[in-house]
Amino acid sequence: MRVLLVGGGGREHALALGLAGDPAVEALVAAPGNPGIAAVAQLREVTPTDPAAVAALAVEVAADLVVVGPEAPLVAGVADAVRAKGIAVFGPSAEAARLEGSKTFAKDVMTAAAVPTARAYTCEDAAAVARALDEFGAPYVVKDDGLAAGKGVVVTDDRAEAERHAAECGRVVIEEYLSGPEVSLFVVTDGEAAVPLLPAQDFKRVGDGDTGPNTGGMGAYAPLPWAPPGLVDDVMRDVVHPTLAELRRRGTPFAGLLYVGLAITPSGPRVIEFNARFGDPETQVVLALLETPLGGLLHAAATGTLGVHPPLRWRDGAAVTVVVAADGYPAGPRTGDVITGADRAGIIHAGTRRDADGTLRSAGGRVLCGTATGPDLAAARDAAYALVRDVELAGSHHRTDIASAAVDGRITVPG
Ligand code: AMP
Repeated sequence: MRVLLVGGGGREHALALGLAGDPAVEALVAAPGNPGIAAVAQLREVTPTDPAAVAALAVEVAADLVVVGPEAPLVAGVADAVRAKGIAVFGPSAEAARLEGSKTFAKDVMTAAAVPTARAYTCEDAAAVARALDEFGAPYVVKDDGLAAGKGVVVTDDRAEAERHAAECGRVVIEEYLSGPEVSLFVVTDGEAAVPLLPAQDFKRVGDGDTGPNTGGMGAYAPLPWAPPGLVDDVMRDVVHPTLAELRRRGTPFAGLLYVGLAITPSGPRVIEFNARFGDPETQVVLALLETPLGGLLHAAATGTLGVHPPLRWRDGAAVTVVVAADGYPAGPRTGDVITGADRAGIIHAGTRRDADGTLRSAGGRVLCGTATGPDLAAARDAAYALVRDVELAGSHHRTDIASAAVDGRITVPG
């Protein structure tokens, strides 16, 4: 099987490692890729959000499968353009990707499918914003309605900050605050059959102890030792299958990766958000534990044959990833700094570039992450931090508490 992987971040580096490790994948091309991906794939230039360009590249490299990593190309219709060429693609249509592309659309689908989620209003002016904030009270949750690379959400006790974010975004979804530990559940689906991966947890806030602004994600671990028994089965029954059925009913089946972001509240799991693609950095830990060949699994989802795919196999133990971010991230990351110690197994490249002379430099806010597995969560965490300690990047920062609350048994599930 010849595979074209679209994207160039940490998630795509993790996907590339998984695909390259599948004996059925005879050629892997990544576009645009990154210096880490270059070790396992041939790199090609492409504008990932240009559907015609990606489809043409898929034809040129004779791809049997195109895997679309990020959300922006999906929302732009890249999967539709590739499918129109008769090539199998892992990733939903633009219509179905609205589950991520529009918070209002996602809420509408959830309401129709009776999926448990936060009560919410879509607001377009200051009066509506004020009414919604009054009704729900603090902490206030204000979400940009469109794609915002994980940074369009403000959760705050500060009413003025909530109002300011709403005014900056224009159209927002304001919703009830959900309390409880968060879970990221990835589900591979062909639109009908659906296979859950291991639940993971990520860390959205920039600072230790979940302080500071939201980011794209500062680290992750899997599996979750504290997850309530039956969690995945319950979410498949109450969230995933009703959502997939509702999208089929609307004539826009969702095939690809359905990312369910949940809060485990005192009244049970509630959906915080859907994404239409693998999460970053949870992918790094989930795929580190997946033993089943990745190319075959994604191909089955892309060709409507997931129902006959064998059950997934997982490695024992746990995985942890720690993100190293550039100086100034998330507000205004500085790029162009020299990185050393990063060309090693376990270092996943996210925002890096390489000079002609081989020097590696930062090229994004989240620069790289140290990903390690171990016989248990504590061992995996220690190994991930050992990787990060050997990386040098001026002004960089990372959280020092990834997975620690879970290791210490400090996460309690309400109820
Ligand atoms: P989202 O982009 O919707 O995943 O939101 C980013 C982060 O904001 C989530 O991972 C949560 O930590 C937080 N968040 C979003 N919605 C809510 C909510 N209704 N209640 C509590 N926290 C939320």
